[in-house]
Amino acid sequence: MFGERYASRTARCRSFFEEARKVLPGGVSYSIRYFDPYPIYVSKARGQKIWDIDGNEYTDYWIGHGALIMGHSYPPVIEAVKEQFEEYLHVGFPHEWEVRLAKQVIKMVDSVKLFRFTNSGTEAAMYSTRLARAFTKKKFIGKFEGGWHGGYDCLHIGVYPPYDAPGSLGILDECLKYTLVLPYNDLEGVRQKVKGVDLAAIIVEPVLGAGGSIPAERDFLKGLRELCDEMDALLIFDEVITGFRLSPGGAQKLYGVTPDLTVFGKILGGGEFPVGGFGGREDIMELLDQLKYPEAHERAFQGGTFAANPITTRAGYTLLKELDENPEIYQKINSLGEKAMKEIEDLFQRYDFKAHVTGIGSMFGIHFTPEKPKDARAAQTLKDQKLAESFFKHMLDNGVLYMTQSMPHLYVSAAHTSEDIDNLVSFVEDFIRKTR
Ligand code: PMP
Repeated sequence: MFGERYASRTARCRSFFEEARKVLPGGVSYSIRYFDPYPIYVSKARGQKIWDIDGNEYTDYWIGHGALIMGHSYPPVIEAVKEQFEEYLHVGFPHEWEVRLAKQVIKMVDSVKLFRFTNSGTEAAMYSTRLARAFTKKKFIGKFEGGWHGGYDCLHIGVYPPYDAPGSLGILDECLKYTLVLPYNDLEGVRQKVKGVDLAAIIVEPVLGAGGSIPAERDFLKGLRELCDEMDALLIFDEVITGFRLSPGGAQKLYGVTPDLTVFGKILGGGEFPVGGFGGREDIMELLDQLKYPEAHERAFQGGTFAANPITTRAGYTLLKELDENPEIYQKINSLGEKAMKEIEDLFQRYDFKAHVTGIGSMFGIHFTPEKPKDARAAQTLKDQKLAESFFKHMLDNGVLYMTQSMPHLYVSAAHTSEDIDNLVSFVEDFIRKTR
């Protein structure tokens, strides 16, 4: 039975979860972190490995929601943060690291001319869509089926089926009145939906993350760029996952498509610390400038107590500089990712097993669907949920972690090895044999 080995060796995790349920709704701080019958409780994390409080070792392909591109506790980041601990922590005044990190982002990402920091990707997506409305003086925001930009009311719709329902209770229809849910990788479908609409912006993940690690087709992103230009609307790339992961310049560099604004998170904060940020065209970002627009009602707002906190920004600067100066990191994670994708897809074909791999570079998804999905709708509505859950348990039994239990998302870090991927592939083969 899948999950038996896990259950038999995680007694302390089980009892911790029972305690957790008394104080945290559902026992967790983020529902996606739960899995059946109870999650692991971490006691240590290094490189690509995690240990739970029962002493079990795992190879981690979740890697901090994809943030830990160098693996857990990457020494240069940890060293930099230790030094920062000796100097100052939270101050609530400007400091050198926010300037250094902003410069580094601007150096790496061509479309970014001015930048602002937030504490999460959610906030960055929120402020950037608000800024787009402020700049264009228009109302509608287009977002995609399966697109995830965090829990901001105006963007929290169409993440999971049914795509026309809000993703949470408590979101007013009024908040979603000017949000349009669009079909991914379907330019004609998008054109039809936005026709005649007072469109402020389209926000898009160049590779769907939560929607299943599904890459956009190049012509689709190029077509969105043209469409936004035709309609005097802004194109916002949400690169919270893809930024600094797919290339030093993000997905936009890889695809050769230039957005007006870009949303970042995860890797931006050194992988280990809470972060978000957004940046883009000077004429748009200027609308946040209190010197140009001294009156609050003349400008767009962004701010926060911990915005650009010194630990996050120093960690982020340290990591981004390493990424910028060491292209071999990308060669490594991309070749490991591509090896995993190819070998797993080959297995599915060889055994005539109804499953597919989607992804690009170091991020991929496994779909228990009859066809390879090209959008989240296909990935989410055609999948064999039971098989996905058994697969998750099988991987847990074999000491492999990823998220989520109903749709595998895996991220490769520079700490992973070719041997890790060989093991992963052999566990997949073992699963196919057991379930065929
Ligand atoms: N955008 C994308 C593409 C994301 O994947 C996420 C989170 N995984 C967010 C925005 C929200 O970021 P955060 O969880 O930091 O609020």
